[in-house]
Amino acid sequence: MDELIELLKQFDGIGNKAAKKIFFEIMTSKSKKDKLVETIEKISNSYKICETCYFYRFENLCKFCDDATRNQELICVVSYITDAQRILESNYRGLIHVLNGEINLNKNIHPENLKMEELFARINKDKEIILALNLTFEGEVTANYIGNKIKSSVKKVSRIARGIPLGGVIDYIDNETLENAITNRKNLK
Ligand SMILES: [Zn+2]
Repeated sequence: MDELIELLKQFDGIGNKAAKKIFFEIMTSKSKKDKLVETIEKISNSYKICETCYFYRFENLCKFCDDATRNQELICVVSYITDAQRILESNYRGLIHVLNGEINLNKNIHPENLKMEELFARINKDKEIILALNLTFEGEVTANYIGNKIKSSVKKVSRIARGIPLGGVIDYIDNETLENAITNRKNLK
């Protein structure tokens, strides 16, 4: 019992109380439990990470990389897969790159721990890069690092506009604000 509760607590945003609530709900309803196990098994077989953009592939299809109608010269860089999901639901029509985190020296997260080299490998003089990183200290550090590294090797690099309140985390803002921030992005060079 403690094992499953401890496991649930490892999820972002789930504390002790929520973990116990979920645990008892699953365990006291056989149909919920069976459905959960069955669904996780079914999805996990078709769910993989895309080796190009690090978003997910479902049934071997990446909704960014495998969509030929998207602008192939535009790449939006985000910190987390949840941010990429938000971008997917917006009216943005380019490609994506998920870094899998942000530079955070206190937590010992360096550029080499992120999908940074993988991003650099995708860029060239025809590409426009939008840095849609969180407007937090770590997001700024990461955006500056990437901006400095790539500004001479891409056509354009921009940072999402400050329509997002300072300290704003992409996952928590509404679609309209996110779309405005992308539209009103600020050129870095
Ligand atoms: Zn992809």
